Amino acid sequence: MANPSNSHAFSQTRPTKVGVLGAGQLGRMMALAGLPLGLEFSLYDTSGAPSAGLGQIFSDPENTQQELDRFLDSVDVVTYEFEHLPLDLARNIASRKPLYPGVEALRVCQNRELEKGLFRQLNIPTPEYRIVSSAEELEKAAAELGTPVVAKSITEGYDGKGQAVLKSPSEAKAAWESIRHPRLIVESFVNFSREVSLIAARNTQGEFVAYPLVENIHHEGILRYTIAPAPLVSEQTQNTASDYIHTLMDHLDYVGVLALELFETPEGLLANEMAPRVHNSGHWSMDGAHTGQFENHLRAILGLPLGDTAPHRVSGMINLISRSVDPSQILKLRDTHLHLYGKDERKGRKVGHINVNAESYDELKDKIERCLPFVPEHAPFTWNPELDT
Ligand code: AMP
Repeated sequence: MANPSNSHAFSQTRPTKVGVLGAGQLGRMMALAGLPLGLEFSLYDTSGAPSAGLGQIFSDPENTQQELDRFLDSVDVVTYEFEHLPLDLARNIASRKPLYPGVEALRVCQNRELEKGLFRQLNIPTPEYRIVSSAEELEKAAAELGTPVVAKSITEGYDGKGQAVLKSPSEAKAAWESIRHPRLIVESFVNFSREVSLIAARNTQGEFVAYPLVENIHHEGILRYTIAPAPLVSEQTQNTASDYIHTLMDHLDYVGVLALELFETPEGLLANEMAPRVHNSGHWSMDGAHTGQFENHLRAILGLPLGDTAPHRVSGMINLISRSVDPSQILKLRDTHLHLYGKDERKGRKVGHINVNAESYDELKDKIERCLPFVPEHAPFTWNPELDT
């Protein structure tokens, strides 16, 4: 005989209420991916300008304990859309509700010294680097490594901020003063053939899946275009990258989606940094893969089976930075999908992206080029698949 209390018990234990720290476009796209799975979303915003436009928003610009409590009471599991979350807050939340990815992943990803140290510890190659705490040490490190070098603050930097390139050790004092941070990582400047990234998901049971390596094209420190899969990647390179991220995830007992950014060089891959969250270089997967990164992140944190990461065909992603587009122009182009985030236009702000699917890289290049006249202030697109490494 059916036991109603049992079915009640099941629905009680199956987590369906997802809390997201942050209410921007990543939280919004998570909610869009989770609604068909019957999930409910609460989004916690301290910016005073939540833009997700979906789910129950807990707006708390004053950062009060009371509103945080209300948010936590409304959810089964908590995740986040940005990694600059204060660690004390993350620990506090993790003591009350499952927080994925966990505090240790957050701690490592917030600090370039710990992050590069972990890469080294796990035998994941990185650019050569030194840690310095003064202008004099910076000058010495630049001389030892050989210029050019890139100096980066170990914390709080993103999208190329808090960084300086030194062409000679004599530029150390000026670089130190421009970065204004007590501790820097100084890296050899890598003459990479291209920048690539790998996105993978690991669920609460340790199941692991990885997407294909993708190629990323930046302009003025911001991601502009992603090509997926990156052309001409050997099976060996894909497996190597996949092994790196798998090792990192197992080591951190990581749950959720992780993005690993790498430089491709003739000598192999070098790890640059990782982000403990869904990532802009994975947005192509929303329309270009069997399971998108947002859905796989949710599956991972809810302990559900992970979805197929295989690409349908080849894909390109165009970020809309500062300015939006006229949908009627973009949507008349075949195999083109528009994602607008409902945000006000502002210089440097990510307001949406376009995903384009094609049968071949030549066709993809052509389709992306057809979009660009309708994308205001787009970055130069000089990608040529035949010239790829
Ligand atoms: P990051 O904040 O570490 O992701 O750096 C921002 C961008 O600066 C990267 O996407 C690269 O284009 C460039 N960059 C960072 N580190 C290096 C390096 N060691 N060598 C050459 N370019 C770098």
